[in-house]
Amino acid sequence: MYKNTLDYAKECDQNDPIASFRSQFHIPTDQTGKPLIYLCGNSLGLQPKTTESYLKQELDDWASLGVEGHTEARKPWLPYHEFLTDQMATIVGAKPEEVVIMNTLTVNLHLMMVSFYRPTEKRFKIIIESDAFPSDKYAVESQLDMHGIDPKEGLLLWHPPAGEAICRLEDLQTLLEANKDEVALIMIGSTNYYSGQAFPLKEITALGHQHGCMVGFDLAHGAGNIQPNLHESGADFAVWCSYKYLNSGPGSLGGCFVHERHRHNPELKRFAGWWGHNKASRFNMRQEFDVLAGAEGWQLSNPPILSMAAIRASLQVFTDAGFDNIRAKSVKLTGYLEFLLNDMGNPNIGIITPSDPQQRGSQLSIQVKNADRRLHDALTEQGVISDWREPDVIRVAPAALYTRFEDVYEFINRLKNALDTLY
Ligand SMILES: *Cc1c(COP(=O)(O)O)cnc(C)c1O
Repeated sequence: MYKNTLDYAKECDQNDPIASFRSQFHIPTDQTGKPLIYLCGNSLGLQPKTTESYLKQELDDWASLGVEGHTEARKPWLPYHEFLTDQMATIVGAKPEEVVIMNTLTVNLHLMMVSFYRPTEKRFKIIIESDAFPSDKYAVESQLDMHGIDPKEGLLLWHPPAGEAICRLEDLQTLLEANKDEVALIMIGSTNYYSGQAFPLKEITALGHQHGCMVGFDLAHGAGNIQPNLHESGADFAVWCSYKYLNSGPGSLGGCFVHERHRHNPELKRFAGWWGHNKASRFNMRQEFDVLAGAEGWQLSNPPILSMAAIRASLQVFTDAGFDNIRAKSVKLTGYLEFLLNDMGNPNIGIITPSDPQQRGSQLSIQVKNADRRLHDALTEQGVISDWREPDVIRVAPAALYTRFEDVYEFINRLKNALDTLY
C-alpha cells in the first residue's frame, strides 16, 4: 500500500487529519533557516508554541501576587498538580486517582521501590530486561545494596535469545520458574530505549502476579508514544518522564502511577513529605502524618510550578489532537519509515525493532553493518537529528505530532546519500 515516491508522501501529509499540529511546534532549523528533520523526539520532544504563554502566566502571577499566588493565581499553585491529572491519566490509560505528576523519573522509581520492593530472606530478587536503561539498572542495584543484598545475587536479567535483540515472554517465565518464590519485583523499561520493543504490560503483569511478584514499569519511552493502558494492565506502579514524547521541556517533571488496589493500604511503607498529607489539614502542621489516598499520597514537596506550566501546555496539545489520532498516525508513519528502509534493498541495513506495530511505538532502531559514528555525523551535517548508539545503531523516532511523511521520505534520501559518500 505504501509507495516510494515524494508525491505519495505529500499525499499522505495532505490526508493526515492531525497534520496541522506541526505548526503548533517550534521546529529547529539549520543556519539558513531551513527546518531540520527532527527524529529525536524520543530523547527531547519539541517545544509547543503555547509553552511560553503558559510559563509567562505563572511568572506574571508570581510578580503581581507573591505568596498570594498559592491561592489567588489564575491557576492557583496549591492544587496546581491537579490541573494536569485528568489529561495525563488519559494518555497513560489510568484512573485520575492513580496518577500524579511529581519529581523526576529516577526519583519516582526509587520512591516506588521503597514501597513496592520489600525483600524478605527468601523473596528478594529483582528482574529487569537485559538491555535496561543504565540509570534504571543503577537505581535497582542501589536498592538491592540498601537492603544488604549483593546485586550479583539479587539482580536477574531477562535476556533475548542469543544473537537477537527482542525479549520473549516465555524466557521471562523460565526465569521466574528457575527462581521460584525468590523474585520480589519485576521492573521493565517499556518501551525499551534501545531496541524500541514495546513489551506486553498486561501479560508481564499477569505472569509476575502469578509468581507472587510486584510488577512496575518505566514508561520513559512509552508515555505519549504508545497507549500503555496502565489501569487495565494491572501493574502495581509505573513511572515516566515528560520531556521525551510528552514535549514538556528539558528535565521537566515526571509522572507516577500507583494502581488503585494500593490506594489506601496502611501496610505499605513509604517515604513521606507534607505534600502527601491530607489537603484539608496540611497547613495545620501539628498533627501526625495523615496520608492522602491514591498516587497523590506519595508526593513529598510542593512542586515547581514553572515545569508544571510547561506540562500543562503540552498536555493541551495532546488533548486537542486526541491520543488515538496521534497513535494512528504514528503507526502509519513508522510503517512508512520501515517500508522505505526495506525498499532500499541494502543488505547492510537491518531493523532491530519488531515489525509488529503492537510491539513498537514511533522508534525504529536501525542497525547498519560495518558503519561507524561518521554515518551519524554525516546525517547531522545534512540536517537530520537522530541518535547514535555504539557500535552500529541509529535510533530514529518520527514523533507523530510534528513529523511529516515528507520528512521521513527525505530522511531516507539523506541516509542513502550519507551511505554512498562514506562506504
Ligand atoms: C530517559 C530515561 C530515563 C531518565 O531518567 P531521569 O530521571 O528523567 O533523568 C530513565 N530511564 C529510562 C528508561 C529512560 O528512557
